[in-house]
Amino acid sequence: MSDTIREKERQTPVAHECNICIVGGSCTGVFAAIQAARLGAKVAIIENNGCFGGSATAGLVNIWHSLYDPSGSKQIIRGLTWELIERLQKKSALTFNEHGENAGYYIFNSAELMIELDLLLTEQPGIRPFLHARFADAVVENGWVTHAIIEDKSGRRAIKADYFIDASGDGDLISRAKLPYTTNSSFQPPAACAIIYGLAEIHKKYPDFNIHDAIRNSKYTDLIKNSLLCDSELVGLPGARILTGACVHDMDCSNADQLTYSEMEGRRQIRTVCDILKENFEGGEKVSLVSLPSYISIRETRHASCQHRISERELSEGTRFPDAVANGSYRENIKKENYDGEEKSALPFYQIPFRSLVPNGSKNVITAGRLIDVDKNAYNSLCVMVNCNQTGEAAGAAATLALDSSIEIPAINTNKLRETLRKEGSIII
Ligand SMILES: Cc1cc2nc3c(=O)[nH]c(=O)nc-3n(C[C@H](O)[C@H](O)[C@H](O)COP(=O)(O)OP(=O)(O)OC[C@H]3O[C@@H](n4cnc5c(N)ncnc54)[C@H](O)[C@@H]3O)c2cc1C
Repeated sequence: MSDTIREKERQTPVAHECNICIVGGSCTGVFAAIQAARLGAKVAIIENNGCFGGSATAGLVNIWHSLYDPSGSKQIIRGLTWELIERLQKKSALTFNEHGENAGYYIFNSAELMIELDLLLTEQPGIRPFLHARFADAVVENGWVTHAIIEDKSGRRAIKADYFIDASGDGDLISRAKLPYTTNSSFQPPAACAIIYGLAEIHKKYPDFNIHDAIRNSKYTDLIKNSLLCDSELVGLPGARILTGACVHDMDCSNADQLTYSEMEGRRQIRTVCDILKENFEGGEKVSLVSLPSYISIRETRHASCQHRISERELSEGTRFPDAVANGSYRENIKKENYDGEEKSALPFYQIPFRSLVPNGSKNVITAGRLIDVDKNAYNSLCVMVNCNQTGEAAGAAATLALDSSIEIPAINTNKLRETLRKEGSIII
C-alpha cells in the first residue's frame, strides 16, 4: 500500500473576494473583523465551529480577567472587550468578582456571549461570516498569500483577500503558508469543561468543599490524570456550575489523532469526576451532567516566530514597548521579585508589542491570540482572553493600515497603529 495518493486536479470556485480574511472566529478573530470593518475594510471571517467565540463559547471557558493594572487603580484594557462586557451586563449575563491581587474578574454566560458576537458581526456592515467552514490551505504567490481555501457544506472553496489574519489559535494559516513557527518541547494541556448541576448539596454538607482538593486525592489519580479542576458559577442559573479543567496531558492538538484522543479523554474524565462526586460525597447523588463543550479548549500548540519573543522577564518587570498594542495584568507563576532579587508587592502591568504578532518573512499575514510569539514561562499569563482580544483588535487595525497604503504589514507605521487603536477605544499607553 502506498503512503500517499494523487488527488484529481480541480478548479476551486472563489466564494468571496474581500480586503481582509480572518481564519478563526473566537473573540480574537471576531474583534479583528469588527475593528477592520469599522475602519472601512471588507472582511471575511472563517470559523470551524457552528458559532463564534472559540474557547469562550464552544469551549465553555467563562472568565475574563481584570481590565485594570495589578493595583486595581488604573484601567489598562477597554476596546471591544469593554463593549462586550457592557452588552452582557445589559442582558444580566455577566458578574464581576472582586479578587485579591489580580483586581477581580468577570464571569459571563457563554450562550449569551455567543449571541452577542452574532449580533456584533451582523450589525457591522462589510463582514461576511463563514461558519462550519474549516480553513484547509493557503495559496501563496511570491510570498503573498492570495487565497484561503476552505472546506464547508458547499464543498471546497476559495476566499480571495489582500491581507490575512491567523486567529486560529493553532497557527493553521501560518503553517500552511509556510511561515515560521515554533513549538515548545511540551504543551500546556488541553482541557474539557462542563456544566454540572447538584454541587450545592455537597457544599451544604462540606462547607469548605473545593472540587480541586476533593478530587486531587491520590486514589483518583489514575482516573483523572492530574487534572486542575475548579468550578465557577453559571451566570443566570444558580445551582449549576461550570467545571473547568479536565486536563489531557502530553498532547499536541495540532496533530489530528491527538486532538481526537483529547476530545474523548476529556469527556471521559468529566464523567469520572461526576461519578466520584456521586459515589464518595454525601449529597453527591444529586450531581448530574448538564452539558459538554462542543470542542475541547486547547491551551497551546504552535507559536509564530516573530521579530520579538515576549519573555517572562518582560512580563515580570512590565517592560514598555514603543510599538505596544495591548496591556495586561494577569500573571500566573510569574516571579514576584524583580531580576535584582527584590520582592515586589504589586508588579506593574505588562505590554504586548506589535513585533510579536508578525511572523518573520510575512508580507500580508499577521497573527493574533494565543499563537503570538511568547516564551514558555510567559505563556500562561499572556494567553488569557482579555489579552488575546486586544491582539485581535490590533491585528485588524494593522491589516487595515497596510491595506490603506498598499504596503506589507511589517512596514506599517506603528505610531499610527497605536493612534488608530486609541481613537477606536482601546487604552494604548
Ligand atoms: C481549560 C482552560 C481554561 C482556561 N481558562 C481561562 C480563563 O478562565 N480565562 C481566560 O481568559 N483564559 C483561559 N484559558 C485560556 C484561553 O481560553 C485561551 O488562551 C484563549 O481562548 C485563546 O484564544 P484564541 O482566540 O487564540 O484561540 P481559541 O479560543 O482556541 O480560538 C481559535 C478559534 O479558531 C477556530 N479554528 C481553529 N482552526 C481552524 C481552522 N482550520 N479553520 C477554521 N477555524 C479554525 C477554532 O474553532 C476557534 O474558534 C483557558 C484555557 C483552557 C484550556
